Amino acid sequence: MSSAAPTNIAGQKHALPSYLNADNLGPWGIYLQQVDRVTPYLGSLARWVETLKRPKRAMVVDVPIELDNGTIAHFEGYRVQHNLSRGPGKGGVRFHQDVTLSEVMALSAWMSVKNAAVNVPYGGAKGGIRVDPRTLSHAELERLTRRYTSEINIIIGPSKDIPAPDVNTNAQVMAWMMDTYSMNSGSTATGVVTGKPISLGGSLGRHEATGRGVFVVGSEAARNIGLEIKGARVAVQGFGNVGAVAAKLFHEAGAKVVAVQDHRTTLFDPAGLDVPALMEYASHSGTIEGFRGEVLRTAQFWEVDCDILIPAALEGQITAENAPQIKARLVIEGANGPTTPEADDILRERNILVAPDVIANAGGVTVSYFEWVQDFSSFFWTEEEINQRLVRIMQEAFRAIWQVAQDNKVTLRTAAFIVACTRILQAREMRGLYP
Ligand code: GLU
Repeated sequence: MSSAAPTNIAGQKHALPSYLNADNLGPWGIYLQQVDRVTPYLGSLARWVETLKRPKRAMVVDVPIELDNGTIAHFEGYRVQHNLSRGPGKGGVRFHQDVTLSEVMALSAWMSVKNAAVNVPYGGAKGGIRVDPRTLSHAELERLTRRYTSEINIIIGPSKDIPAPDVNTNAQVMAWMMDTYSMNSGSTATGVVTGKPISLGGSLGRHEATGRGVFVVGSEAARNIGLEIKGARVAVQGFGNVGAVAAKLFHEAGAKVVAVQDHRTTLFDPAGLDVPALMEYASHSGTIEGFRGEVLRTAQFWEVDCDILIPAALEGQITAENAPQIKARLVIEGANGPTTPEADDILRERNILVAPDVIANAGGVTVSYFEWVQDFSSFFWTEEEINQRLVRIMQEAFRAIWQVAQDNKVTLRTAAFIVACTRILQAREMRGLYP
């Protein structure tokens, strides 16, 4: 990850909000470089590009809770609304010990780009708490979630900003958020979050949607480079909601999942891991550690002989160090921001196609959009309808981005940014500056 403040295409230092440390920009620095790469393709809209380089609103909150042992613990919480030009804020909430403001800012910006890339009517937002949720009891987690929701209550709402699950958050956390917001506002507001339990206005198909989108986009990309899914060797980093579902769908389509890595271990089986059994195992033990298969060292994961590589964990994983070792022909980004710009360049030179996060993992927010629409109309669709619409939106978005990449001879990431940033900045320009 780049440590110094990146320069823009004119070689000038980026104008940074004063609350960020220029020497340690983290994921925000990666995002700024991606914006620089798209700027030459924005035509007259480039006049507005600075809009994308600072979040509209960034909220930092203290989240104090009483622990089960009677002591008081304080956690740092964030909600960042990067851009609201095209609609309300939308994006997940992450509970992780490494969450920082810079990370949440980058994730919120990637949501703006993602939502515009698949053309759902949202701006971009993201939230998080700097906490390792595995150290908390169920009751402590509930208190943490409710206090955090109360703190950000003034900026969220069904037509303002709609959180959803992300790393280490799930339908139960969304139920607590929905309830807390509803208790504070005096009426039940199901549309304030998505990714809820089905019994509380959640949508069929939402749980699997991100992994399904990874599969749909991956299949389109594979076809375009003449790679057959049947028999293809797949390596997956991360075995949570995204990685496990993607692995399952590739497995069902006849691919061999030869390697899986989670936060504890790396499993390898050249004959293909038994994905359904691995999912069953991980659902009980919380990790894939201990399941049958050869155990590799962490760094060896990137050298595994495979055709398709799916990073589905955290950002900054594919770097200038490991990109030269990657054997795959296709990288499908299930995670947000898994590839650094330097690694992007190396993969491109090596003719490895990258299906970027802002399209490859947009299935989750697409079905979140369906959930929000269903909540507003109090009319619920069948799972078949949802999956059909999801596939159609993802395929159309991917094909349009593919065409832009061909026309401009750019990577799919830059093409996705061209499509998305054009939509965002057109909206920005049409709305005009107030006052
Ligand atoms: N957290 C997911 C993402 O990164 C889903 C966001 C949403 O559904 O709002 O795309």
